[in-house]
Order: sequence, then C-alpha cells, then structure tokens
Amino acid sequence: MLQSRESLNVEETTLVNIQPVGRYGLTPIWEDGHKTGIYTYEKLRALCECDECRKSKR
Ligand SMILES: [Zn+2]
Repeated sequence: MLQSRESLNVEETTLVNIQPVGRYGLTPIWEDGHKTGIYTYEKLRALCECDECRKSKR
C-alpha cells in the first residue's frame, strides 16, 4: 500500500500505531508524530492488490 520514497527518513516511515476513525477508516501514526490523513477502508480496499480484493473490483 505505501510506497517507499527515498526522500522520507526512518522516523517518517516507521509506523507506531493505527487509530480507528469512526467506522469508516484508519489513521496511521508515524514515529515522527505525523498522524494526518485518513485511510478509509474503501480506499485501502481499492489500493490492495491481493487476489480477493482484485476479484471484488471486477
Ligand atoms: Zn486485499
């Protein structure tokens, strides 16, 4: 789901926690304290490339 970019440092790419947001998504909390951004389950499903999710998209 997350692509590594060379411009991000270790703190920015270390996931320390995941908070549920209501019933519709998750907010990842990074080691640098950055916790903006909500990943809705819908969006995570859309990004997921496992067989199950790919099948349900078509
Ligand atoms: Zn999946």
